[in-house]
Amino acid sequence: MNRARLLVFNAALGVLDYRVPEGMAIEPGSVVVAPLGPRQIVGVVWDAERLPTKEVPDSKLRPLIEVLPVPPLPAPLRRLIEWAADYYVAPLSSVARMALGSSAALRGGGTTTEYRLTGEEPKRMTPQRAAAMDALHGEQATIRELAEIASVSEGVLRGMVGAGLLEPVVVDIDRPYPRARADFAAPRLSEDQQAAADIFVAAVEAKKFAPFLLDGVTGSGKTEVYFEGVAAALAEGRQVLVLLPEIALTENFLRRFEARFGVTPVLWHSSLKASERRRAWRAIVSGDAQVVVGARSALFMPYARLGLIVVDEAHETSFKQDDGVRYNARDVAVIRARFEGIPVILASATPALESMHLADTGVYQRIALPDRFGGARLPDISVVDLREEQPERGRWLAPRLVEELKARLERGEQSLLFLNRRGYAPLTLCRHCGYRFQCPNCTAWLVEHRLSRRLACHHCGHEVPVPEACPECGTPDCLVACGPGVERIADEVAELLPGARVALVTSDTLNSPEKIGEFVAAAENRLIDVIVGTQLVTKGYHFPELTLVGVVDADLGLEGGDLRAAERTYQQVAQVAGRAGRGEKPGEVLIQTRHPTAPVIDALAKGDRDAFYAAETEARRDAGAPPFGRWAAIIVSSEDEAEARDAARAIGGTAPNLPDVLILGPAPAPMALLRGRYRYRLLINARRSAEVQKIVREWLGRFDFPQGVRVNVDIDPYSFV
Ligand SMILES: [Zn+2]
Ligand SMILES: [Zn+2]
Repeated sequence: MNRARLLVFNAALGVLDYRVPEGMAIEPGSVVVAPLGPRQIVGVVWDAERLPTKEVPDSKLRPLIEVLPVPPLPAPLRRLIEWAADYYVAPLSSVARMALGSSAALRGGGTTTEYRLTGEEPKRMTPQRAAAMDALHGEQATIRELAEIASVSEGVLRGMVGAGLLEPVVVDIDRPYPRARADFAAPRLSEDQQAAADIFVAAVEAKKFAPFLLDGVTGSGKTEVYFEGVAAALAEGRQVLVLLPEIALTENFLRRFEARFGVTPVLWHSSLKASERRRAWRAIVSGDAQVVVGARSALFMPYARLGLIVVDEAHETSFKQDDGVRYNARDVAVIRARFEGIPVILASATPALESMHLADTGVYQRIALPDRFGGARLPDISVVDLREEQPERGRWLAPRLVEELKARLERGEQSLLFLNRRGYAPLTLCRHCGYRFQCPNCTAWLVEHRLSRRLACHHCGHEVPVPEACPECGTPDCLVACGPGVERIADEVAELLPGARVALVTSDTLNSPEKIGEFVAAAENRLIDVIVGTQLVTKGYHFPELTLVGVVDADLGLEGGDLRAAERTYQQVAQVAGRAGRGEKPGEVLIQTRHPTAPVIDALAKGDRDAFYAAETEARRDAGAPPFGRWAAIIVSSEDEAEARDAARAIGGTAPNLPDVLILGPAPAPMALLRGRYRYRLLINARRSAEVQKIVREWLGRFDFPQGVRVNVDIDPYSFV
């Protein structure tokens, strides 16, 4: 009798055995439909010997219903899924689910009906129709998607179809993407760049696992160099995955890619429309998608012929996922390359300390680009000691920085002010009674956003309008904004430099590819004098006229006091400094700080990267922190505070006593309340020799908690809140 072991997408069910009916052909990796009670579920046929479960007698097995018309998940991907589940102490089914990015795509291709404007003028114009006509210009999508784009009801759009204003277009889901051409526009490379590119080309052609750290200063042309590796893969008919840390960077990337290869690559990220998702996923599994650019979720897709993985801005912490399966896409990318037997390139101007260590010890091959492309010089960096050079009362920019801003404005050059804080002010209080606005769901202040006239929590999304009077004492007009956010800095610039054209760049203002595109075009066409932005402006952009960067508060990142605070500050400031002087004119960077002697600030001012990494490496070694030791966190949460506390204490009470493992806590988390859940944390610090995952699994496996309690394990955590 023919049996199949299924991994189903439900962590509670886990693994189930089925009978394979006569005439049905399956193999490990096949995606199938099976009965479960009265329902039907989707599962993946898994290598039975790798998934032990309780044997069910043949006579009790129910038959599989059908095999879905998609290629089986390849063996290297199945090994990757197993590895990630094991390493991150996550359910196998939760990891496997990430490979099947679109359930609709599993049912095969076929057609879908989309709609677009016909260009007809309406006989009867309503305000809603006018708004829709405006918003839908150049769009083609399903009625539901168009309704979302235009913010009108589906009914309004159906009315427009009836009136001949919108027309249906039948679209083939599997229509091919335009082909990228390896030789479309070969670049002009410097000698250094060419040498690096040659190494990548050879590695792609060798079709063997090879991890690279592409370590190049800002403006050295890392992208142009790894594009030659991409070109080699295209020439070989292999697929390439490029991971970017955030969608905001994609716009710029797409344009550079198109200039080099003639077409835009295939995009994969969470805000794709359902039809785009379906098409992209099917092209990925068929091999038709030549180059896929995506956020971290693109990493687990079932590529048919992967030939190269690139992780750009590889130091970015957004590659770490902090909910669901808590994995680090940078690390998983290297493991995937190993299972696939292909090269992987981690590109960064400020590599993570862990990556530096692996390059130093020869695990990764370091490819260095020490100079800027085209002879541009790295900017001059100096420190503004805020204790000596104080801004005027109620202001945040020191006189020297203001003078430099004015000088740039007079010369027609651009400036950038960086402050990694959205909104107008991080804290609002009542002048009369001292009341502070706090989120009801989180241990966090509400942040005032003047643009939207609201107080918002940046953790859970809770929002209230700014009240006219204090909710505590009732005094009208008594609220005071404390501290600056980018909106407040933009106001200050507008007051100090009347006539300057100021652009505010945060995820609140640049929340769509269109808006990002408009910003980039405006900056390039010199329609902007001063850019005020959060970390969104620190990387990727290349504005030749930008000659001044001001870091408004370099101490901000150091306050959190977590393991990577100094490293993150270094990376952020070095990245934003890298925006200055990328053209022919030299750049200047002013760093405002109250701690000019802090090692990280000192290293930044001296431009001494090696000294910073050396000092930070020693500090990590002393602390037994990564890459020398390992950390893992256990986060216990519940909507009921006592329940969370009791569960955390029960876990803490049975902590294993091992020589190479130190267990701290439980203690209330710094964010003791988050999205309405009370949180406790335990932190594990282990030597590299310890089998952390096994220890945690056995330790937590003994418990059976009440339903409301969630216990999350975070291996190699980045967040300590
Ligand atoms: Zn008050
Ligand atoms: Zn909140």
